[in-house]
Amino acid sequence: MTTEPIMIHSIINGEKIKTEKTFPRENPTHPDQIVGYAPINTREETIQAIDAAYNSFKQWAWSDVDERIERMQRAIQKIKDSTKEIAELLSREHGKAYYDAEGEVGLSLMYMEYACNHVKEIVTPEVIENENGRTIITFDPVGVVSAITPWNYPLALSTIKIAPALLTGNTMVLKPSPFAPLAVSRVCEMIADEFPPGVLNLVHGEADVGVELTSNEKVAKIAFTGGTKTAKSIMKAASETIKKMTLELGGNDAAIVLEDFDVNDERALRRMVISNFLTAGQICMIAKRIYVHRSIYDAFVEKYIEAANKWIRVGDPFNPDVTVGPVNNKNQVKHVQNLVADAESKGAKVVKLGQILNPELMDNGYFLQPTLVLGANYHDPVVVEEQFGPTVPILPFDDEEQVIELHNESIYGLTSSVWGEEEHAIRVARRIEAGTTMINTAAVQGLDIRFPFGGVKQSGVGREYGKEGLKSYTETHVINMPKNKELPYIPE
Ligand code: NAD
Repeated sequence: MTTEPIMIHSIINGEKIKTEKTFPRENPTHPDQIVGYAPINTREETIQAIDAAYNSFKQWAWSDVDERIERMQRAIQKIKDSTKEIAELLSREHGKAYYDAEGEVGLSLMYMEYACNHVKEIVTPEVIENENGRTIITFDPVGVVSAITPWNYPLALSTIKIAPALLTGNTMVLKPSPFAPLAVSRVCEMIADEFPPGVLNLVHGEADVGVELTSNEKVAKIAFTGGTKTAKSIMKAASETIKKMTLELGGNDAAIVLEDFDVNDERALRRMVISNFLTAGQICMIAKRIYVHRSIYDAFVEKYIEAANKWIRVGDPFNPDVTVGPVNNKNQVKHVQNLVADAESKGAKVVKLGQILNPELMDNGYFLQPTLVLGANYHDPVVVEEQFGPTVPILPFDDEEQVIELHNESIYGLTSSVWGEEEHAIRVARRIEAGTTMINTAAVQGLDIRFPFGGVKQSGVGREYGKEGLKSYTETHVINMPKNKELPYIPE
């Protein structure tokens, strides 16, 4: 594995562009090591990228869908062949365990394949012939799409936008997060090389680049994954030109453990613990608060700690026994530390979880030992805010009405999970306000790329994955030829 810093470029109209300014991305395990440098694009370069996408759309929109699938399949093959190189780079720049990074490459490929296999049924026009005449309904591309993605799953959350957009005939300008810009850029290069110039463009930078991407009048749709606060600025920036939008935002997902959950079910506890601390807790769709029925609360906490101490192993992402690596960046470390300290100052008890496999790394890297917060108040920030890190509060509840209310009073509604006897858990799940509710499992174990994924309330607008994910990159156009062409109800 090479550890020399790499240099990546932006891609505008098929050209790899070197910029005047670049920024370093450090390795969260060894922050003094630079993994690579990414460009800082100017606003003018961002406009050039949007113009390139706008101009290439005129032809790409009318390209044959078989040609688009063929090109995407070639890109998929290149990514597949480079899985190890991409996963190593991702693990080094992000901090996630190597097995997790490899899983992310696999997840990206899975949806790209799915999109290739289903795009034809999505874009094939529907023809309705009846006594009123003939109607053709077409599913056309939207235009230039601005894709803006976060750092926690940079590959999966970018390819989930690129594949459906390009396959349905759109063009795109993508901006990844500065906290994990490298592996996703490699993947973008591989895809862009297989498509005509201007179909996929890549720019880097912060808010000013983001503002251009979300306000430029040539952009027809925004596909954004990130925080709810950022989404509010994006909605404002886009309102002037009424852009289409898919927003995949933050969450404060709850796990509800019913009185009939078997606290001796070791496999279930393993699933819960692993999903809570996967990617060091930096996943939108994992439990950020656990409510447990008071009758089993003490026994549950004891068994949870036991399971966590067995399955959580913190250390170097390239150590194959490690399940939890460092947190991605310093700000995130501070954010989690502040939430835990606030709860502690109000009387909560903080329990450290898991084994430390590489103690020599803990002080220098962005490591946080996973923690459990017990005895927090129902409305403490550590409970109601998105921690997005390796800590989780456990709170007792007395009856179903109370826990459903606690769940639904959140401004968020991304995913949730209910644990207990299956039919009972389904009854509770039906009353929960969320985009996805998993029964007796959570997080990526409950994710299926064939099902639509997204949030209700302030967790988002629209859905990704599944056929809805493809459809969201199309506009419906009705071409109607009624038999009776005269205007009705109007006297001659
Ligand atoms: P973020 O909102 O800070 O940044 C996301 C992206 O937006 C980055 O590329 C950033 O550079 C860009 N950006 C920042 N300001 C902008 C502006 N004014 N205009 C346009 N773009 C701008 O989020 P983050 O910290 O990178 O990611 C963590 C958040 O993402 C969490 O809230 C998490 O829940 C959420 N997330 C949601 C999902 C989902 O599917 N719902 C998945 C993953 C992450």
